[in-house]
This record gives sequence, structure tokens and C-alpha cells, in this order.
Amino acid sequence: MTEKISPLGEVLKVTGRLLRSGRVPGQLIIQYTDRCNATCPQCGMRVTNDFARTTLAEQRVAEMIRHAADHGVAALSFTGGEPFMCLDEVCRLASVAGAHKIPYIRTGTNGYLFRGAENADFSDRMKTLADKLAATPLRNIWVSIDSADVATHEQMRGLPGVIKGVEKALPIFAERGLYLSANLGINRNFAGRDKDRDHLDYPFFRAGFDRFYRFVTELGFTIANVCYPMHGDDESDQAVYAATATDRVVSFTYEEKLNLFQALSDAIPGHRQNIRIFTPRCSLHALLQQYRGREELTTPCRGGIDYFFVDSQSGHSYPCGYRGDEDLGRFEEMTPPSCSAAQECRRCDWECFRDPTELFSPLLDLRLAPGRLMQRLWKDRTFYRLWREDLRYYRACGFFDGRRNLDHEKLRPWRNPVLP
Ligand code: SF4
Ligand code: SF4
Repeated sequence: MTEKISPLGEVLKVTGRLLRSGRVPGQLIIQYTDRCNATCPQCGMRVTNDFARTTLAEQRVAEMIRHAADHGVAALSFTGGEPFMCLDEVCRLASVAGAHKIPYIRTGTNGYLFRGAENADFSDRMKTLADKLAATPLRNIWVSIDSADVATHEQMRGLPGVIKGVEKALPIFAERGLYLSANLGINRNFAGRDKDRDHLDYPFFRAGFDRFYRFVTELGFTIANVCYPMHGDDESDQAVYAATATDRVVSFTYEEKLNLFQALSDAIPGHRQNIRIFTPRCSLHALLQQYRGREELTTPCRGGIDYFFVDSQSGHSYPCGYRGDEDLGRFEEMTPPSCSAAQECRRCDWECFRDPTELFSPLLDLRLAPGRLMQRLWKDRTFYRLWREDLRYYRACGFFDGRRNLDHEKLRPWRNPVLP
């Protein structure tokens, strides 16, 4: 039986209580397994990499979830590897999280189960899969899309035929009230393969993001998210999360990153009325400020304070997927969950932690750092304008509830965007 998700009022009440105590609603990302069946060049967990794979024990993860719920974790993510290779366990654990009233539960897939659209049993297989997922309290399910070019995506993933299957499966999922999200991990091929291009400029990124949003909208997605490049600038980073590869396909120069973030921010308004775009422009603005050397106008990441990552190999928690030299031990034994070495960290652009940090930052600064709030208000009004705009848009999107379709009426006002 599906557990009832907490009403929004209850979530807001808890959020208010946490903010008053100087915390933001917690987030826990559990890498349930590092097993995978795809060949993505941007990831150390690709099936062709030979290393001993590990999957966490289901019972232990259930303990982590109970502990997380008791300590203000509102968002729980099951990542991999390929989480759908452990689908039964992930579904059961999502139900544990739902029973403990964690409202935002998500997982995702590389889409390998969507292959074989040409087979006679495809629709039945998809109905069974969708029914199984719909019976859980999973709120959001993402499907990784690496490129707006079908051949490039399928070649990178090593999953031929997957896009055709996704297109055919999305309506079947929607009939069951499941609206999947397209998830782009930005890479040099995201607008199509571009082998010989050494330097990616603003027009390349701008056209590429337009193409990507059009592509996933036409495929039938109603929610889209973008993952920023997964590597830090600091050579001392010891990524614990093997998705943080340094392959050229996900490596960008400083100038390319500036172009990338600006182009993404500029592309988003033109698509907000067609597909629910999670990426907050206020966060992109903050990252641009940081890259331009105005770090004081950004907010330190909540990784290791309110947000944590659990690694499947050690089964231990870390402040995030990057700070692998800060082993915090077993998450279910951290009381209260908080990093002893909490620090002002801006070492990477991991959107899972940086985006919500910036979204909560004005409220948090009001409580913890009114000086920073005033300084930002004085020196960077654009941030607050974008922040207010993002919040209005999030509301129009129903806060990206993957159990509801997008509401075209509510998105109508976003038809004629005015760029800064
Ligand atoms: S990015 Fe995901 S699907 Fe691709 S190899 Fe890594 S874990 Fe597997
Ligand atoms: S910015 Fe956040 S996600 Fe990145 S290394 Fe620091 S704590 Fe981790």
C-alpha cells in the first residue's frame, strides 16, 4: 500500500522550525550500489571498469532512513551505479522512507529497462514497471539523458534503442500518474558529438541547451534537471563518488564554465513554459559570481552540515561525494547528523547540494549571517530578483511533483520571459 506523503503544510512547518534553529531541511544521498551496466565515459562506475562492486545491505539502509527521518532529513535520494539493478530493494526502501514521512524521495535510472521498444511485450513490461513504481512513495524518478543527439547518447551509455523506449514508455507512466524527469549531466557531447572542438564558447552552449530542452520536451518529459560538471577545481579533492570522473568529456576550462553557466541561465526562461525546469537561475548566478572571484556573494555549501552522502563501498557517510578524506562513519550513528569539521566549502559545483543551498540561503542568512544578507542585498540585487523569480516559478511548477502533470495554465505567465 502506498504511504501517504506529508501535506505541504507539515513540510513548511518543519522547514520553519529548522530554519529558526539555523538548519535547512536535510538531504541524504545514498549510493545504494556501484553496480552498473552502462559504459558512460564520464563515470568511473562504467561496466567496463574492473573493480569489486558493492551493494549496501538493505536492512542497514532502512536504519539509516529511520535515523535520517528522526533528524530532519526531508529529501532522500537513492543513487548508484544503476539503482534499477536493485529495483525491488529500492522500492521497499522508498516505502520505509514514506512510512517515516520523508516527503521528497527520488531515484533514477540510465533507462536500460526501456530498451526493446520494438518487442511485442514492451508495453506490458512498461505497465508492470510503472505499476510497481507507482505503488511506492517515490516522488521523482529521473532518466539520464547525456545528449540531445540520440546516437551520441546511446553510444555514450552503450544502451542502443533506449531513447525510442523512453519515448514509448513515458505516456504509459503518465497514465499511472508518474511523470519522469530528464536528467542531463553536462558533458562536451550534450549538444551532439563534437570531437574536434577544443574550446566551447557561449553560442555553442546556448544553442546546445535550447536543443536539449526542445529534445526532452518533444520526447514527452515534463520535468528536466541539469547536473553541472562533476569535478572540482581543487586538486586536493578526493572524490568518494566514482561518478566524479576527470575524463575530458566532462572537463571544462574556467572560461568554458563561465560560458556554460551563463548560457544555461539565459536558455532556461525560453523553455520554462514548456517543461518544468528545476535548475534555479539564482544558483547559476551565484556560481558565476564565484567564478568571477566574488565568493563573498555566494553561500557556503550545506554539505556536511545538513546534506550528506553515503558511499556504497565503505557504507560510511561523507559531507558529500567529493570530500572523501572526511569519513564521518556510519550515518545511522551520527547524532545529530552533522560533520564535526563543518567548514565553509565552495570547492565544487555539485548541483545536488549547491542549488538547494542557494535556494535556502536568504532565509538561512536571515537567521545565521544577517551581515552577509545585507551585503548581498546591497551589492547583488540580481541574486534576490532571480531568487524571487525562481520561487514563483517553483510554485507554478507544483514544486516539481513527479506525481502530477505540469499545469499549462499555471505556466502560461512564463511564456514571455524578460532576460536581465
Ligand atoms: S553515469 Fe550512471 S549509468 Fe553511467 S556508468 Fe556511471 S553509474 Fe552507470
Ligand atoms: S561545495 Fe558542497 S558538494 Fe562541493 S565539495 Fe564542498 S561540501 Fe562538497
